[in-house]
Amino acid sequence: MVSSNYMLIKEIREYASLNKIPIMQNEGIDFLTTFIIKHQIKTVLEIGTAIGYSAIMMCLCSPNLKVISIERDEKRYLEALKNIKKFNLEDRITLIFNDALNVRIDDKVDLVFIDAAKAQNIKFFELFERNLNDEGYIITDNMYFHGLVKKDEKTITSRNLRGIVRKIKDYITFLKNNEDYTTTIYEVGDGIAVSEKNK
Ligand code: SAM
Repeated sequence: MVSSNYMLIKEIREYASLNKIPIMQNEGIDFLTTFIIKHQIKTVLEIGTAIGYSAIMMCLCSPNLKVISIERDEKRYLEALKNIKKFNLEDRITLIFNDALNVRIDDKVDLVFIDAAKAQNIKFFELFERNLNDEGYIITDNMYFHGLVKKDEKTITSRNLRGIVRKIKDYITFLKNNEDYTTTIYEVGDGIAVSEKNK
């Protein structure tokens, strides 16, 4: 990465940390960018832009990659627009400001990357799998939800967190039982699921 980009990425990471904005962990972003290069991914639909960090990192790893990314939080969306401009990536990253559940897209992509409200993963999967090319992949982040998915549920005191953990477990079951895809969950970062469309 050229040094000016490195400094800008560092600033985005610091902004995220200061403002408590969840962005992908280093291990997760390394996995995602390596995956993109290895599988020659050219187009990505991302659910959950936050401030544009992962969309920018994906574009920096592959010179012709194009990303469409959806974010429902206005402040984050505006910050993402600013960040994308700093990297001159306006022609490669298209941002949509809306709740993803209200968005319908015509484009076909090689990769759908789900990184939004964890309790809605099944809905996102079902809604956006129609956008996948025949040999496409769906990647989902935070399958372990900060380690909580592997814990005994009774030890999770917050009802809200227990609810999210249950929904992620339902999502894991949904992926395992989905005959149209083969899913592997990797022990990387916060747990990353890769679902490959069966041929
Ligand atoms: N992918 C980003 C990165 O690594 O730089 C991080 C995304 S952050 C984990 C999740 C984002 O998804 C939040 O900014 C949240 O506002 C957004 N989000 C959650 N549910 C959403 C929905 N239904 N539609 C659009 N955005 C959503």
